Amino acid sequence: MTNPLLSDWTGPFGLPPFDLIEDAHFGPALDTALAEDLAEVAAVAENPEPPTFANTIEGLMRCGARLDRVSGVFFNLAGSDSTPAREALMREFSPKLAAHAAAIYGNQPLFDRIRAVWQAREALELTAEQARVLMLVHRNFIRAGAALEGEAAERMKEIKQRLAVLGTSFTQNLLADERDWSMPLAEADLEGLPGFVVASARAAGEERGAEGPVLTLSRSLIVPFLQFSPRRDLREIAYKAWVARGANGGETDNREIAAEVLALRQERAQLLGYADFASYKLETEMAGSPDKVRELLAAVWAPAKAQAEADAQLLEERMRADGVNEALAPWDWRYYAQKRRKAEHDLDEAALKHYLQLDRMIEAAFDCAHRLFGLEFQALDVPLYHPDARAWEVTRNGQHLAVFIGDYFARGSKRSGAWCSAMRMQARFPEEQRPIVVNVCNFAKADPALLSYDDARTLFHEFGHALHQMLSDVTYDMVAGTSVARDFVELPSQLFEHWLEVPEVLRVFATHVETGAAMPQEMLDKVLKAANFDQGFATVEYVASAMVDLAFHEGAAPADPMAKQAEVLAGLGMPAAIGMRHATPHFAHVFAGDGYSSGYYSYMWSEVMDADAFAAFEEAGGAFDPEMAKKLETHILSAGGSQEAEALYLAFRGRMPGVEALLKGRGLAA
Ligand SMILES: [Zn+2]
Repeated sequence: MTNPLLSDWTGPFGLPPFDLIEDAHFGPALDTALAEDLAEVAAVAENPEPPTFANTIEGLMRCGARLDRVSGVFFNLAGSDSTPAREALMREFSPKLAAHAAAIYGNQPLFDRIRAVWQAREALELTAEQARVLMLVHRNFIRAGAALEGEAAERMKEIKQRLAVLGTSFTQNLLADERDWSMPLAEADLEGLPGFVVASARAAGEERGAEGPVLTLSRSLIVPFLQFSPRRDLREIAYKAWVARGANGGETDNREIAAEVLALRQERAQLLGYADFASYKLETEMAGSPDKVRELLAAVWAPAKAQAEADAQLLEERMRADGVNEALAPWDWRYYAQKRRKAEHDLDEAALKHYLQLDRMIEAAFDCAHRLFGLEFQALDVPLYHPDARAWEVTRNGQHLAVFIGDYFARGSKRSGAWCSAMRMQARFPEEQRPIVVNVCNFAKADPALLSYDDARTLFHEFGHALHQMLSDVTYDMVAGTSVARDFVELPSQLFEHWLEVPEVLRVFATHVETGAAMPQEMLDKVLKAANFDQGFATVEYVASAMVDLAFHEGAAPADPMAKQAEVLAGLGMPAAIGMRHATPHFAHVFAGDGYSSGYYSYMWSEVMDADAFAAFEEAGGAFDPEMAKKLETHILSAGGSQEAEALYLAFRGRMPGVEALLKGRGLAA
């Protein structure tokens, strides 16, 4: 039996033969590809020739072509169209892949060769991209502990294993606390709640086998409850339960886990020769150091806090008018902010949806990419992995650039959220390879499908990531497309969101689903104005969490993270009516894994750049200024990670960004 995952893909654009692939093919294909990769890496490590850039670094780049292909398909399907068989494969292959990576990073002869090339780098006459790739490969090995020996190497292994266990426990405890709490709602308790909240409370009740509707701690239910429920007593109970996740004592309490995680991270960083975990973590980021992060957060904090305090006054006045004479509390903020939003903006979300058709918004994104970068999109009739997925060929001046797959509708087999991934990255080595890029969203399916404004923004966001992949123009796929620092990767996506807010884009593409009429000017104005509503609150709750995250990983690890958190918040003068966006016991970004530890600031770091980068267009000839578009493509979208992020931004903008554009965009500028 031939396994289509392992054969050569000779169909149109080298797309995977989705119509031939069955779940039973994945296991054997992954096993074969893993073994093949290991054998290829071993051949590089054991090469009797003296190490060179070509036989070692490029040698490594040649390894695992089949593994890239098979895992590219598998992980895309596992996320966007899972089945019990695919879930079982995930459980089987996660540890196998971890062991595979550990075997490569632990290959001593291989590391010796990499180190030899690294030490000889000055004399090698490498191109800038080659020098960068060499630095990255060497640094990845060092950071994985490849240079450690004896006891230190053993200890590193133990720490990694223990951290993996703690990360899983942290997540599971959180899930348990969310699962265990619910509050029955009597019919009278539903008063004032909009239909969709009532419907989800009823659905939650059914799911949990309750007699009637219940409130749960799921963000999509509790946040609207806090926004709309006029019952202050219920809001208080709900809010307190929500922020107590992971801190309820007993088996599922995360506070001791947090302390142990921080201590182990600190030890790990020191074993590797860094002063503390923040220095280790930020080494690979654009920010580079804890001081730079703090500088950004501090610059945003003061105006955000001032705005939040002014807003709190307005909200408290509304509360007084309701006859409540206590101080504004965290369980009051969303409720009175919602009332204020209604009074000041009166944006009818339901009416707005009729102007935001999915297909028109896709056209809008394509049209912006055409006006900015000359891209053309031609619908493709090719077999894909699900009937809802659609594909386009992307060309420029008749030349093939990429295949773009859009998979927009929610379904039970798709994980939540929205993301962009590449089934194949762009590269020129060892041979020309054009990307296959996927945008996955969770929009409600209907015909015609209508979006909320947030949905439309998400569509543009993910398409910005897709542009980063499709316009990539580098030699090695290791630095292609979105293979950049975490605090830089959201720049293209967040930047592209700005084009949705260009009035001429909405005027052309936001047309009424039945009449085809353009969105009325009054509605357009309200949409654009509502975008920065309540940003004092949003910025304060976010920056507080980012500051605590940073403080946790600087210097000695705190023995009592909760005390440290209290100290940081007191130092900031945290407004009493606002909680952290994520408090320590449920701060999964930081404790469920390593992804955003001392990296929670990244969202805002990217936002500083996207606001400043879009301002560059406005300062030039407007949103479609051709010269700025060219610069954006040359220095950022096509460059991937082939240079340091800071150098890329400087080349694009001519200077580093300040926070002014961000403050203005959030309505926080004085
Ligand atoms: Zn993103």
